[in-house]
Amino acid sequence: MNAPFKAPTTKAVDFLDGLFDAGLLMRTGVDGVYGRAGIFEEVIDRFEALVTRAAVGDGATRIHFPPGMPRRMLEKSGYLKSFPQLAGCVHSFMGNERDHAQLLAMLEKGEDWTELQQATEVVLTPAACYPLYPTVAAQGPLKPAGALFDLKSYCFRHEPSQDPARMQLFRMREFVRLGTAEQVTAFRQSWLDRGERLIAALGLPCVVDLANDPFFGRAGKMLANNQRDQGLKFELLIPVASDDKPTACLSFNYHQDHFGSLWGLQFEDGEIAHSACVGFGLERTALALFRHHGTDVEAWPDEVRSLLWA
Ligand code: ATP
Ligand code: ZN
Ligand code: MG
Repeated sequence: MNAPFKAPTTKAVDFLDGLFDAGLLMRTGVDGVYGRAGIFEEVIDRFEALVTRAAVGDGATRIHFPPGMPRRMLEKSGYLKSFPQLAGCVHSFMGNERDHAQLLAMLEKGEDWTELQQATEVVLTPAACYPLYPTVAAQGPLKPAGALFDLKSYCFRHEPSQDPARMQLFRMREFVRLGTAEQVTAFRQSWLDRGERLIAALGLPCVVDLANDPFFGRAGKMLANNQRDQGLKFELLIPVASDDKPTACLSFNYHQDHFGSLWGLQFEDGEIAHSACVGFGLERTALALFRHHGTDVEAWPDEVRSLLWA
């Protein structure tokens, strides 16, 4: 690793260059798709362990899904209505030998060979919780206490950027609560409190603010306003690549009965379940730690080190 740096910059590009120079991230040639150094991964592991400790006693059921999910599931989820610009569908070659020869010829000539590919049944998971709702619905009605899940997934969003905190492939740790409106909003409130305490204990400056998702198009503006008016989404923001525009590192979402009614998630008496999820952006939190404490983890403040390397 090169000399450690503290990034007082407000320019995302400079900050990204500093991360490359320090060897923490590696370029691949595509914005938002990076290799990560071992120490970057270790910081993520340590942060995750801290999150796990903060959730001890909650009794969440851990489930891990792969980073791809059934295309049908995404189609039914409404994601393409709200965020068509972010979705990623896996395509594959399904032709015969003649088609293959054509593909190789196109590749050779620098032509667009991808038109010889077809959509598979797999899409890339856009948020860790998307595959959960239909999976739980298939397990039968919810108990009166509802349910709580602990998830982690690589996620894909087509939002290439030179802001290192806006990756195309990144990991999300999520807790998802299913239950009555009261149960799930109490869950969200408890994580708003815990999340802020946890980030403050790591010596990171943060604010919690009302937020909205980037709904597509003109109709999307209305959806975004609605989401704000109803207080459905909050974010915990930390200055990462920019001081003026801090980055959402944790998100706290209340979906009302949207996923419950979509997937038929209900209690034994037929009442539709509400849901809420709390998402931790793992790369973003790691970037925030490197931004504020420097690239040399050995030189991080003692209180931060002892918390992470407990
Ligand atoms: P933003 O407003 O910055 O686009 P978001 O509202 O899209 O964030 P969510 O959809 O709530 O974020 O995703 C949950 C968490 O995943 C976020 O709090 C963030 O930490 C992380 N995240 C979201 N998009 C990205 C990305 N492109 N790169 C890295 N992490 C991300
Ligand atoms: Zn979620
Ligand atoms: Mg986003």
